[in-house]
Amino acid sequence: MTNKTTPLTLEKVKEIAKTYPTPFVIYDKKAIIENMKEFKEAFSWVDWFKNYFAVKACPNPTLLKILKEMWSWADCSSMWELVMSELVWITWKEIMFTSNNTKYDEFMKAHKIWAIINFDDITHIDYYKETVWFLPRISCCRYNPGPLKKWNTIIWKPEEAKYWMKREQLFEAYKKLRDHWVHHFWLHTMVASNELNPEYFIETAKILFELVVELEKELNITFDFVNLGWWIGIPYKPEQKKVDLNVVSKWIKKEYEKIIWTNREKPLRIVMECGRMITWPYGYLVTEVLHITDKYKQYVWVDASMQCLMRPALYWAYHHITVLWKENKKNTMTYDVTWSLCENNDKFAIDRELPKIDEWDIIVIHDAWAHWTAMWFNYNAKLRPAELLLEENWEVTLIRRAETLSELFATVNWINWFDYR
Ligand SMILES: *Cc1c(COP(=O)(O)O)cnc(C)c1O
Repeated sequence: MTNKTTPLTLEKVKEIAKTYPTPFVIYDKKAIIENMKEFKEAFSWVDWFKNYFAVKACPNPTLLKILKEMWSWADCSSMWELVMSELVWITWKEIMFTSNNTKYDEFMKAHKIWAIINFDDITHIDYYKETVWFLPRISCCRYNPGPLKKWNTIIWKPEEAKYWMKREQLFEAYKKLRDHWVHHFWLHTMVASNELNPEYFIETAKILFELVVELEKELNITFDFVNLGWWIGIPYKPEQKKVDLNVVSKWIKKEYEKIIWTNREKPLRIVMECGRMITWPYGYLVTEVLHITDKYKQYVWVDASMQCLMRPALYWAYHHITVLWKENKKNTMTYDVTWSLCENNDKFAIDRELPKIDEWDIIVIHDAWAHWTAMWFNYNAKLRPAELLLEENWEVTLIRRAETLSELFATVNWINWFDYR
């Protein structure tokens, strides 16, 4: 069980809304820092343990800065993410460039800031060399275990994923890199999403440790790091349980001792690239109830929409809802919580049991930090809301202002109407 509470109170939201009207997203800085501390603590046995925060999970420079102070760096996948990271002084080894279908200008940029290049395909090695002229000093390859194992079933079977290299290709890729005088090797895999089963992470680590030993023996090279990837899930639903990082860490340590220490003299460093579990549980979308209607179903209409939280429409994702000031009331009603896009799937929740809701109530939607701020869009010319940071002293800082109508017009090429008279 996970207690889905929010640090927000009705009074606090009313106070915030005087300056920043609803809807807005607010992030709890204190909780993020504490969570990051716990994460680091759990893996304190690892020399130089680092998390490369998947920037797409919450592309906001303020957040990247907070995380950098906690020794969590950047996992980038596009030009924009590279540039944003550089602007907050995350560069060089602090960036892992894990992209796919990469264009030359992105490889060039990654090269210029000395990012660690994580090759998604064996052909990208030649492509990189043709565009950048050198191969990266630190090279990493992405492994696809294919049908070897039943991986996390939530998202893909690895054989059906468009990413990563097959086993034979992986050996060939490292050989190629070795023959082109690359000396620093990393290995990466990441074949699941939003996983909560600890066994899965332990299994991944084991497979990668064994693979490192095999690659080293066969190719006579030495690996510096493995990137365990890890899409550690979060308990979106109250009945789900958080992944116990201490347990996972303990078991990984056992595998490490068994596989790495018995086969190598040098330690193998471990990094990860979690996004979601670093920030998501600590972000809240705050909306106001505009209307309550009674049709074939009961509807609650709020002033945010799927344009700022696409996940439920995209894959029926569950996001917990708290009605402020009614936290302790019984769930006596069944509502669809919706808004105003001209799409019937513009619903945050369907048939959700909630306390009786009234107009002007404030609804908080949980686990609202991430991927979806990056998925924001402007359908029906709806504007993106503001992002706020709830500081440790409970002050509120604006970290991205709400969009304005003029921004929607900014890219339009206005016709010179005189020519059309
Ligand atoms: C999306 C992504 C992540 C982060 O996934 P989360 O579910 O947010 O933890 C990490 N690495 C890569 C390569 C990704 O594409």
